[in-house]
Amino acid sequence: MGCMSQNLLTLLQVGAVVIGVGLGFSLKAVKNTWSERDTSYVKFGGELFLNMLKGLIIPLIMSTMISAIGSLDITLSRMIGWRGLTYYMFTTFIAIALGIILTVSIQPGRFSDKGNVKMQSPDPTLVEDTLLDLIRTMFPPNLVQAALSRYRTTLVNPATPPDPSIPLDRYKMVGKWESGTNMMGLVVFSIALGIALSTIGPRGKPVLDVFKSLADATTVLTTWAIWMSPIGVVFLVASEVLQRDFMSVITSLGLYFSTVLGGLMIHGFVLLPLLYFILTRRSPFKFIGNMLPALAMAFGSSSSVATLPVTMKCLEESNYIDPRVSRFLLPIGATINMDGTALYEAAAALFIAQLVGASLSIGEIIAVAITATAASIGAAGIPQAGLVTMVMVLNTVGLPGEYISYIVPVDWLLDRFRTTVNVLGDSFGCGIVDKMCREQLEKLPFDEEKFEYVH
Ligand code: ASP
Repeated sequence: MGCMSQNLLTLLQVGAVVIGVGLGFSLKAVKNTWSERDTSYVKFGGELFLNMLKGLIIPLIMSTMISAIGSLDITLSRMIGWRGLTYYMFTTFIAIALGIILTVSIQPGRFSDKGNVKMQSPDPTLVEDTLLDLIRTMFPPNLVQAALSRYRTTLVNPATPPDPSIPLDRYKMVGKWESGTNMMGLVVFSIALGIALSTIGPRGKPVLDVFKSLADATTVLTTWAIWMSPIGVVFLVASEVLQRDFMSVITSLGLYFSTVLGGLMIHGFVLLPLLYFILTRRSPFKFIGNMLPALAMAFGSSSSVATLPVTMKCLEESNYIDPRVSRFLLPIGATINMDGTALYEAAAALFIAQLVGASLSIGEIIAVAITATAASIGAAGIPQAGLVTMVMVLNTVGLPGEYISYIVPVDWLLDRFRTTVNVLGDSFGCGIVDKMCREQLEKLPFDEEKFEYVH
């Protein structure tokens, strides 16, 4: 999606928020109290939009992961590949930890009127059980089941009717596969299949090609669904205005927006530059200065994939990165290394939990961290793909996917900032790996023709 059409989409999304607020207040003027049933009619258009997004999760995440991991030429580019992957995992971990620390300490959801809480499991759970459940869920007994259910252990009060004076250690432990989307099992399977396909080399090509074209097609479908977002946003915002205290929504959303934005700025412009300086002893400011055209493109297009050619050009021509590093690492980074998206996924899930008054245990916060990693790897580098994979993070802690409607009104703007940090993270990765491999690369023959820049 080019910058122009992305700007048009943004304009439509902003207009949709304004129209949604107007529609909500006009309907409230007609009738002051709206029942859940009446509001559900107003929400209908938004519901269709959310369903479209939810329907895309499985094909999008699976095809993107299998094709990105399956195309890794780790044996050939072992030196570059492993260093790049280590950098990706380390920085994603830092981003998620930062997102969690900020959201837990700032509590942007604390001003909410708690809406109508719909937690899927009212029974208490223990940290260790939640973690074991997550691991069980990662290895489902069969793949079809993986798409449809996740394992959940709960503690059930042994008395009927429940007696709150009974201590927790006398509760009955009940573990079962519950219905609900479980992406973790599919994510683990996709990673394993991707690695297997890259291991068998040319024999894996036909299957890999199928997943590559599926990834391209689902990316187009996601773009179409995102173009529907202005219509969805009008009805989602209007139903929010009808159902909840408008001022508390605005305050919470503003605080959520500032928390994620603050986290993105700290990660992109403090922590990553510091890491770059420590590992390369080069000036991060000069490096960022040379990347400005790519950062502007990322902000304008909301797509790390669309920004790829500009990122490559800035890295090679202004920061003098060896093309053997950038041409290998950047396409992978644009698909699987998304620090901004990872930070946002973790922060948004915790914010939504705070908003609906669901207190998460440490085990559940760790589960959010793990699924936020998978969600950032599985998000395609296109506008608002992170919003689609957000559903999976919410499902992990028993929150319904439709709760993404709480963050939809500001997502168009946050997406621009997180994409900028995604691109910056990929660029620093190339800078660091380039420095680490320089000596070895200089000893290898360099085929100038192969790496000539196409203008
Ligand atoms: N728009 C982001 C990107 O292209 C992905 C996302 O977080 O939605 O990097």
